[in-house]
Amino acid sequence: MHIQIFKFGGAAINSAAGIKNVAEILKKFTGGPVVVVISAMGKTTNALEDVLEKYIQKDPIAVIESFQKVRDYHFAILDVLFADKNHPVFGEIDSLFNQLRGYIRRGHLYCTNQPDRDFEYDQIVSFGELFSSAIVHHYLVLQGISSHLFDVRELIKTNTTYRDARVDWGLTQQLISKTITGYFQDFAEQRIIALTQGFIGSDPDGNTTTLGREGSDFSAAIFAFSLHAKEMTIWKDVPGVMNADPKLMTDAVCLETLSYREAIELAYYGASVIHPKTIKPLENASIVLHVKSFLNPDLSGTTVENIKEWKILTPIYILKQNQVLISISPRDFSFILEENLSEIFRILALCRVKVNVMQNSAISFSICVDNDPHKINSLISHLQHDYETRYNQGLDLFTIRHYTNDAVARIIEGRNVLMELRSRNTLQVVLGFNAGNALNALNANNADNAGNSDNAVI
Ligand code: ASP
Ligand code: MG
Repeated sequence: MHIQIFKFGGAAINSAAGIKNVAEILKKFTGGPVVVVISAMGKTTNALEDVLEKYIQKDPIAVIESFQKVRDYHFAILDVLFADKNHPVFGEIDSLFNQLRGYIRRGHLYCTNQPDRDFEYDQIVSFGELFSSAIVHHYLVLQGISSHLFDVRELIKTNTTYRDARVDWGLTQQLISKTITGYFQDFAEQRIIALTQGFIGSDPDGNTTTLGREGSDFSAAIFAFSLHAKEMTIWKDVPGVMNADPKLMTDAVCLETLSYREAIELAYYGASVIHPKTIKPLENASIVLHVKSFLNPDLSGTTVENIKEWKILTPIYILKQNQVLISISPRDFSFILEENLSEIFRILALCRVKVNVMQNSAISFSICVDNDPHKINSLISHLQHDYETRYNQGLDLFTIRHYTNDAVARIIEGRNVLMELRSRNTLQVVLGFNAGNALNALNANNADNAGNSDNAVI
């Protein structure tokens, strides 16, 4: 049986028109059985993160306001998609929202001690995919497409590392293969859809878990791997994998092919087009990945596959914004030795801070990380005892794969280079703003950081 795997992200289904377009793509580009993995609609995950924030702050009015916004957004789309106001989808979505509201209320009433933030995140934010999958499923059926909705929490089993759950591959593969193959068996020649949620799974006790932001690509890869698919398609709002963000560089071009190796490197350095964990299962099972545009589905997009001699035609630029550069020095002016490094890495792992770039000197160790204030505060308070910590924030980290002198000049021109790392294929620079660009620096900082000065010593 030749099973296809399609993944649609939030941007593909951010409106009624978007969902209609997805139905058209499914009609046109599928023959036999297809697993369709979908994310939350539009910016719903961010909106639910806001609900979580208010919930953690125990602000009962703000949490309901924030909840209501998410509810209104979904119901506005439902209204356009379903002319029959008695369609069962209205009741189903209403009951999902009631579940979420009930969860939030119970938390407020009964939770006296500080809740586990990551656990609560997964229980609340996962609703985005539950809403979207139910809506898309009912719309496909309305369009005469035979679709069955699967709750992915019964298929993807994980550990209890909430917000970044690890997949139990053995069990997951068994569940997916049995359930999905079984479902498709009788309809091998027809277009038949198994629709399910990206991003989420469940732990051994059945609590919902999430696989990390933008994790739906990874979910799709889990299905592709478990079902021995030959290919998988991620439908995006860009023509394919570009050599730069077209919003930043108007001359960005779409890369026709990529090797798995290059794709995994790009994802690792922060190319947002592919989730970092996605490539490994695809590579391991030689599954070809297509990245295509849902706006121009007839374009061929980018194909990622096993290419031994991948020809590099152009530098590839990856930007990570809102970075913090932290330099860590022993308080007693001693050298940074292996023991220090292993202690620092233990603390980094404990605080779940991911290092984007690092550099070492005699008495200081510098790391560039994403600016997640909760994690960074906890990191700094753990380090404080033995180390003096300095940090710079509001920085950009540029990675250039297959860099040339021109490419580097283009990126660093007029900027303050705070750190630079070069290898044969890759150059990474951490950039601040020069004094002349102070206004930009201010604009680039988010509100959280506005009161903090640069290079503060803690
Ligand atoms: N909805 C989740 C997010 O926005 C997962 C995904 O879109 O891949 O991060
Ligand atoms: Mg997304």
